Amino acid sequence: MQIETQVIHAGRSADPATGAVMPPIYQTSTYKQDRVGQHRGYEYSRTGNPTRAALEACLAALEGSEHGLAFASGMAAIDVVLRLLSPGDHVLAGNDVYGGTFRLFDSEFRRYGLEFTYVDTSDPAQVESGLRPNTRMVWLETPTNPLLNVSDISAVARIVHGRSSDTLLVVDNTFATPYLQRPLELGADIVVHSTTKYLGGHSDVVGGAVISRDADIHTRLAFLQNAAGAVPGPLDCFLVLRGVQTLPVRMDRHAENAAAIADFLSRHPKVAVTLYPFHPSHPQAATARRQMRNGGGMVSFVLKNGAEAARHVAENTSLFTLAESLGGVESLIEVPAVMTHASTADSPLAVDPGLVRLSVGLEHADDLLSDLEHALSGV
Ligand SMILES: *Cc1c(COP(=O)(O)O)cnc(C)c1O
Repeated sequence: MQIETQVIHAGRSADPATGAVMPPIYQTSTYKQDRVGQHRGYEYSRTGNPTRAALEACLAALEGSEHGLAFASGMAAIDVVLRLLSPGDHVLAGNDVYGGTFRLFDSEFRRYGLEFTYVDTSDPAQVESGLRPNTRMVWLETPTNPLLNVSDISAVARIVHGRSSDTLLVVDNTFATPYLQRPLELGADIVVHSTTKYLGGHSDVVGGAVISRDADIHTRLAFLQNAAGAVPGPLDCFLVLRGVQTLPVRMDRHAENAAAIADFLSRHPKVAVTLYPFHPSHPQAATARRQMRNGGGMVSFVLKNGAEAARHVAENTSLFTLAESLGGVESLIEVPAVMTHASTADSPLAVDPGLVRLSVGLEHADDLLSDLEHALSGV
């Protein structure tokens, strides 16, 4: 099945009890057992819930696997993946990963004896030289948040697995979504998502997911999902399932609008740098075009006049809402250095204070362009 069909049919079948075509929201914590110890597949909703099971099967299919798990947030998903490791293990991560990912690694898991180093993963040679004898996980984000750097997933997978078969390659596929790129097919072992973003797609739910290729890793992750318990509620699972059905049409329009905006910004006299994976000026545009179906909906740019100009633009749009998060139908604007990525300040991962990040929505491109033109004119 093609992904356009999978988003509508994968993980779904008419409800056996009533024939309901849409997955019912099984708002229950527990399930009647027919006899002591004899249940119908569900016993307690932290362990399993039919609405969540439908979402997990759907997301697994979209990433080309059978092993999906849903979580209460993207960070809860990332937290569980890190729990696969033991004290003394080393994680090699990208040097511009999501601010919350860096915060969890740096302020929390380091305390438990995990070692982290950060390299520019868009350069496979840096991944190769960054591997240590105790490296058990390589953490890639591509495209990255907020710089939209692109890493070559298959090149990195060859390096990581060429060195050791028990080093896991994890890809945070939140920005691309499985419609644009499928990391497991490119050699990754585990994919994580913040379903809060494009998969949910409507800025009305917080959630996460982990999809793995290997059954044993999945079993361990499922144990951790139940043991640690950061599961999403059935209503949240329903909302993500509903959002996913329109993922391909939304992503095509997000990308069409984003490409038009990247083109406009790259020619604007007040803009120093425009970052968009499919723009000809992007340093990894060739890799992006090979690995991704389109350039996605995120555009970042650096103002020539720095932090003050970035603040001015972000506070003077009317269609782009000044807010964190991304991936919804509505356009959003933010200044990463003081908003989403404030936790990286004073670290090697700190971002340019003149950087502005756009989550380009599904409005008409002309309206978005004139909104930006107006905000830029005051700089
Ligand atoms: C938002 C985000 C996360 C964290 O997800 P939450 O749902 O906010 O917990 C992780 N990675 C990336 C790339 C993100 O954009």
